[in-house]
Amino acid sequence: MIIDSHSHVGTRIGSTQTGPELRARMDEAGVDLACIFPHVEGGFTNDDVDEAVAAVPGRFIPFLAVDPWFGDRAVVEIHERADRGYRGVKLHPTIHGYNLADLDLLAPVLDAVRERRLVLLSHGADDVLNAPPAFAKVARAYPEVPVLMAHSGVFRTHEQAIEAARELPNLYLEAARVPAFEIAHQIRELGPEKTIWGSDSPFSDYSWEFEKMRRTVDSDEAHQLVCGGNLARLLELT
Ligand SMILES: [Zn+2]
Repeated sequence: MIIDSHSHVGTRIGSTQTGPELRARMDEAGVDLACIFPHVEGGFTNDDVDEAVAAVPGRFIPFLAVDPWFGDRAVVEIHERADRGYRGVKLHPTIHGYNLADLDLLAPVLDAVRERRLVLLSHGADDVLNAPPAFAKVARAYPEVPVLMAHSGVFRTHEQAIEAARELPNLYLEAARVPAFEIAHQIRELGPEKTIWGSDSPFSDYSWEFEKMRRTVDSDEAHQLVCGGNLARLLELT
């Protein structure tokens, strides 16, 4: 089973993707399931996810985006949507203006993620607000929560990301928009169990994001783990 861990649906200025559009991209590439959440800029709404799931039943795993500055409102929304089958939470510290290491701010959200047995996916490119040590702090404080570092800390903090993922069993490196060389390197360092494929559509060429994995991961067994098996286990799909 091939699973995309990272796709956006809905519309914001400069970007749009409907559920049927994403399904068409998945079908062309040969992807079975996708974790979806809205674009996270501005006045985003997770209702975009409901709309996509309703339009394309059975292909999407709903995640919600939250801005922890909304406090109780974010926590209430996590519980409300978890009740309706949402399986993960997406954070974007850079866009929402906080440091992922700020556990005073994040504790209510992370407590809810842990309580509802959700997967946490945070933006994790080369950026001071979501650097690998911040991911390590979250993963250490919440060992029960699977934490996915989107974009694997590439480029300048890639080695730090690998070190953090090596140390922490619940920290995974997510490969969306990560070049093939870096993905191959982290798999050599960590084994295929710690890398999870995602597309970051619509901000990518969907087919290429998937095809790069065939040229990056050398064995069928490793490819199956990276492109679906690892995430299926974390989401308890198997
Ligand atoms: Zn994204």
